[in-house]
Amino acid sequence: MYEVPKLTDFTPATLDAAARDLLSALDSEAAAVTNDADWKIFRDRWMARKNGVLMQLNERWLKAAPGPAKRDVGQLVNELKAKVETAVETALQRLQGGATSAKLASECLDITLPGIHRPLGVEHPVIRTMNEIVAAFRNLGYSVSEGPEIESDYYNFESLNFPPNHPARDMQDTLFIADQDRKALRDRLLLRTHTSPVQIRTMEKMKPPLRIVIPGKVYRNDPPDASHSPMFHQIEGLAVDTNITFGDLKGTLDHAMKALFGSSVKTQFRPSFFPFTEPSAEMMVSCFICGGSGKRGSEPCRPCKTTGWIEILGCGMVDPNVFEFVKHNGYDSKKVSGFAFGMGADRIAILKYGVDDIQLFFQGDVRFLEQFR
Ligand SMILES: [Zn+2]
Repeated sequence: MYEVPKLTDFTPATLDAAARDLLSALDSEAAAVTNDADWKIFRDRWMARKNGVLMQLNERWLKAAPGPAKRDVGQLVNELKAKVETAVETALQRLQGGATSAKLASECLDITLPGIHRPLGVEHPVIRTMNEIVAAFRNLGYSVSEGPEIESDYYNFESLNFPPNHPARDMQDTLFIADQDRKALRDRLLLRTHTSPVQIRTMEKMKPPLRIVIPGKVYRNDPPDASHSPMFHQIEGLAVDTNITFGDLKGTLDHAMKALFGSSVKTQFRPSFFPFTEPSAEMMVSCFICGGSGKRGSEPCRPCKTTGWIEILGCGMVDPNVFEFVKHNGYDSKKVSGFAFGMGADRIAILKYGVDDIQLFFQGDVRFLEQFR
């Protein structure tokens, strides 16, 4: 390792040679610095106050120089000091510069690379059908209400005029939540069998007049087959105001069906029974697949079973007994009246798209779903 030599004479030639030796040692040691620890050793070796190379220069050259040579030696030592300081500083900058370029390289972003292709999905056919139905009623001034899928017996049955042990409850094979036996019947939890509980929940919150549609999932203990699923979708509607009549019901639903299935469809109402409406009706629309003829060419029309009519929803005037449960919020059956209707969104999607198995909607098979782009 380089050490400052003691000089025997101080002629310019000797000084020159000695300076060259020192600078070449400085260069090679500076070049060997590759990290912070190296650099500190390098700096201390050359610049330390205690026995650094610069201190050795002072001792061995400057102090040792005879009187006449002192001025030249002093000048040379100063020049060498400056070069050492510069070399130490430059080595540090080189290290930091290296770190910066490494950081830049690691953060570099190649904007010429093609982007990641994320295929755009589409609305599920059932959701699309629900949105279309909701839109038809929105245009008539209806707003959307939603409610919980886990319901109490009170909201799902009792307040909708299904008293305990009433046979109408048997029409809906209910999925109950386990371990509820110790609760009072009306507090027991179940998976809602229809979207109708949201009618009561909304009437509890909002005073009449009211016009709402309620889209959502419902559950029944039906074994899955081509036309049944334990989970399916309903859309329900409710209008309450003064002087609402069955004529309003017919006019509203006829208009909505024309918006959904085309202006040429006709509607027909047939008497039916639901616990929460009186009178109740089933609404048929003229078959929008065969145009009401019951035939497709020479083949019988399957969706309408050749009758030319498709049953599409249940409806009726709200039973005054139902208003009794929300009378405290302004629903006095002597002052207001209303109608309600409900339909299965999956069934309508099946008819609209000619799907022959409801299970296809819920199996998540992309080959099936891709057809609805
Ligand atoms: Zn038909």
